[in-house]
Amino acid sequence: MKCPFCGFEESKVVDSRPTDEGARIRRRRECLKCEKRFTTYEIIETLPIIVIKKDSSRQQFDRDKLVNGLLRACEKRPVSIQTIEKAVDDIEMQLQNSLDREVKSEKIGELAMEKLKEIDEVAYVRFASVYRRFQDVSTFMEELNTLLKK
Ligand SMILES: [Zn+2]
Repeated sequence: MKCPFCGFEESKVVDSRPTDEGARIRRRRECLKCEKRFTTYEIIETLPIIVIKKDSSRQQFDRDKLVNGLLRACEKRPVSIQTIEKAVDDIEMQLQNSLDREVKSEKIGELAMEKLKEIDEVAYVRFASVYRRFQDVSTFMEELNTLLKK
């Protein structure tokens, strides 16, 4: 991103926010040489994320599937759809930002669990019980107890 004042190639981002259409991002940049500030509108690069399933088959990352999974975990819990959407946004961004174009389905499960842990503990345990396929009730209870102790 060339500085429009002095033509220097490097700048740092001082502020970043999506535009109303969402596909572009407005950035305030500061030139590392002359320190003048300028605004750029950049297209958000979205490459498809490929999910590797347990049987090694590949599938394109399905955002709706993740939203539904979290919704199910949050059933009858005081969690708004906005909170869930935001969590999924964060997860998607994390995946987009990682250099790997392929990600194991377990990894997405782990990220979702981390999010749920912050949002609602009951929902977290529900989700974790499905995702980790607890071998027996005692592992499940262990997990529950560590949560309750906090
Ligand atoms: Zn400059």
